[in-house]
Amino acid sequence: MRTAYISHRDCLLHDMGQFHPESPERLHAIEDRLVASQLMPLLRHYDAPRAGREQLLQVHDAAYVDDLFARAPQPGQAPVMLDSDTWLAPHTLEAALHAAGAVTLGVDLVMSGEMETAFCAIRPPGHHAERHRAMGFCFFNNIAVGAAHAMRRHGLERIAILDFDAHHGNGTEDIFRDEPRILFCSSFQHPFYPATPLAEDRPNLIHSKLRNGAYSEEFQQAVSDQWLPALDRFQPQLILISAGFDAHFEDDMSGLNLLDTDYAWVTERIMEAAAVHCGNRVVSTLEGGYVMNALGRSAAAHIKVLMGVH
Ligand SMILES: [Zn+2]
Repeated sequence: MRTAYISHRDCLLHDMGQFHPESPERLHAIEDRLVASQLMPLLRHYDAPRAGREQLLQVHDAAYVDDLFARAPQPGQAPVMLDSDTWLAPHTLEAALHAAGAVTLGVDLVMSGEMETAFCAIRPPGHHAERHRAMGFCFFNNIAVGAAHAMRRHGLERIAILDFDAHHGNGTEDIFRDEPRILFCSSFQHPFYPATPLAEDRPNLIHSKLRNGAYSEEFQQAVSDQWLPALDRFQPQLILISAGFDAHFEDDMSGLNLLDTDYAWVTERIMEAAAVHCGNRVVSTLEGGYVMNALGRSAAAHIKVLMGVH
């Protein structure tokens, strides 16, 4: 499999303070594990472009985007609090623009056939960012920007977004709840953050709720019973993944107990569906994951399957 690794140095500069769990070290942890497992040289490396204003406006309100640009502090100025754990620091806006742009590049690479799969090693994450607000460490909804780009630029009519982060992708749901070209499947601890109301009545939304303390078996059962049949019915032309690794049992950001092998397992099932429906076209983007060892191992296990390496 030809697999792209898309990142940008500005994603390392976004810094919400030394005690904030969404830290630059997260990207180093993933790269370190890819080097140690000898996968790094097999990936094709790309610099993420900046997402353009037009691309952002497909999924965010103009007033919200303009507000972020207006309030972004200069180097040396104090960070601006957008919600209790989401801070606009001097390099945040540039990092967020490249994070969203990474997914659009991933989409272009797999749609052109230059690459089959892509992993976007970016931060800030995106799946909590709603149409008109930042929250939960997220500013722009990176995967939604990528999906909108795939519809607009490439004319796609069926895109599946699969989200296995420990937290519900409320932002992605907010943006695409009434968009029939998007199937959004999300597995998440419930009840739990972000605790926003779930749109239970939409045929294009699948909520795989996992109890606090759930183990691998419950996660795999939910994916097998809910996601895989939905993918077969929907027949996606492209699969996008919100790859959060904070459901790992070593990660205290959630009460879920997944293992490295679960991330390999779910990626294998996704790749099987991608082989049947969309010529292996899969673009994955980093969401959560806050304990460095578990994040590095889990992301490497996920990327290894995206690469088709056994
Ligand atoms: Zn999360």
